[in-house]
Amino acid sequence: MQTIQTKLLVLGGGPGGYIAAIRAGQLGIQTTLVESASLGGTCLNIGCIPSKALIHAAGEFAKVQDFASQSSPLGISLQKPALDVVKTIAWKDDIVKRLTGGVGALLKRQKVQVVNGWAHIVDGKSVDVRGADGTITHRIQCEHLLLANGSVPVELPILPFDGDKVISSTEALSPAQLPKQLIVVGGGYIGLELGITYRKLGVAVTVIEAAERILPAYDAELTKPVQTRLEKLGIKLYLKHQVIGAVKGKGAGVEIRPAGDESAKVVTLKADQVLVAVGRKPRTEGYNLESLQLTMKGRAVLVDDQCKTSMKNVWAIGDVTGEPMLAHRAMAQGEMVAEIISGKTRHFQPQQIPAVCFTDPEVVSVGLSPDEAKAAGHEVLTAQFPFSANGRAMSLEDTEGFIRVVARKDNHRILGWQAVGGHVAELVAAFSQSMEMGAYLEDVAHTIHAHPTLGEAIQEAALRALGHALHV
Ligand code: FAD
Ligand code: NAD
Repeated sequence: MQTIQTKLLVLGGGPGGYIAAIRAGQLGIQTTLVESASLGGTCLNIGCIPSKALIHAAGEFAKVQDFASQSSPLGISLQKPALDVVKTIAWKDDIVKRLTGGVGALLKRQKVQVVNGWAHIVDGKSVDVRGADGTITHRIQCEHLLLANGSVPVELPILPFDGDKVISSTEALSPAQLPKQLIVVGGGYIGLELGITYRKLGVAVTVIEAAERILPAYDAELTKPVQTRLEKLGIKLYLKHQVIGAVKGKGAGVEIRPAGDESAKVVTLKADQVLVAVGRKPRTEGYNLESLQLTMKGRAVLVDDQCKTSMKNVWAIGDVTGEPMLAHRAMAQGEMVAEIISGKTRHFQPQQIPAVCFTDPEVVSVGLSPDEAKAAGHEVLTAQFPFSANGRAMSLEDTEGFIRVVARKDNHRILGWQAVGGHVAELVAAFSQSMEMGAYLEDVAHTIHAHPTLGEAIQEAALRALGHALHV
């Protein structure tokens, strides 16, 4: 067993942990990072990156299929396309490999010691690392312990994961072959991003959502175009339905019933696979976290605005600290903790944490929605600009959706942005920057936006809120 003394010990090499370690290395803090799987965590290996790669591949396939069915108004026609899913997955895996390899190189450059194995907490200042066979390979002692252990998918007791018929997003991102029929339980981020992807790849998809609408985390107006698209794609949707049983035997399936109505008729749905995507939970088990007796917030580790836990010099960031479980939040927290440990004064008090759902069309929310702003006591101005009035959207043949701005009525300070439409994920930087810089409607309305771009819709939304949009 090797003993390591280090100033900062990071548990987990996901976006939270690896960013904390890189920044700590830049600041000259002696840092060790323990990771049991591949560097990059959920995000790079089995989350953000592979899902977006498959979303792109599926979008390209669907586009070519549209051309092949002679429906393209651009006058392009093709033979019926074919998909080699093994090649698609290999392409996705190559992107993952390049990125995770890059993380390793960045950590090496900052002289971060990476230890591969499963960390088991001994106390707030020491951790044992076990190899695959369970033997302890390292004892690491530290001044600061940073928990960046991430999250795991929520399992439904009635429908436990078996890696084959009942799967999580992890298996759905690496299929050896595509099922003919897929049932998706959960119409949230993962259920819809991957449900749409599978449908575009030719799979018959049924989505079961317990709430009365899809993507309940976003406001109803924003998600309406996504629901319309699901219908056009032929995705069957059961809203306000609950899974009450699993179908056993050949294939897979579920029994469902309208939520809260025990007398309603049970519907049996059959498929080749069931993808369960009903949320993720902080990973707090299996590494003796409980021995630290940290104050928890539900299933998550409670932290203050500096990511300090209830134990001195024990910090926590990212998904292990709960919602919103997003990679960019984990990264921002990781960077901040490294700076605080180096002696800088920092607090995690962002004006906004952007949320982007990579459905078709994409959905973006930054800051407050109109209802949230009103609930917070603001009198608000809101305005929408439709992509149907934007020249670039027309030339991209993607005119569905809109951009909406929310601002204070008294002084025009911007409180939030929402958008739905093709490519709106790429506009999010403008939304986030305007909010972090405390912009007013006039700042955005008087900024010259390049023509022809989708970004002009941002300026037009601000102009419209001021009462003088130019193109509607
Ligand atoms: P993780 O990325 O989960 O990393 C934690 C790491 O810790 C893991 O590598 C794990 O192996 C390691 N670990 C845990 N315990 C131990 C231990 N005891 N010993 C050693 N190693 C340990 N977010 C977005 O912002 N945008 C997206 O588009 C997006 N898409 C997603 C798509 C999917 C399918 C999924 C599942 C998630 C997606 N997310 C997305 C969420 C995002 O992946 C997470 O918010 C992010 O990865 C959290 O980072 P983290 O560092 O907190 O934890
Ligand atoms: P989610 O919370 O986004 O969606 C879960 C959905 O399942 C909800 O709509 C919920 O109402 C529904 N649900 C819950 N229990 C159910 C049941 N028994 N039957 C039917 N429906 C049920 O969770 P997710 O899609 O699993 O994603 C997990 C997390 O991963 C997200 O919350 C997000 O933090 C992260 N993520 C982010 C992105 C992104 O940023 N683009 C993409 C994927 C995942």
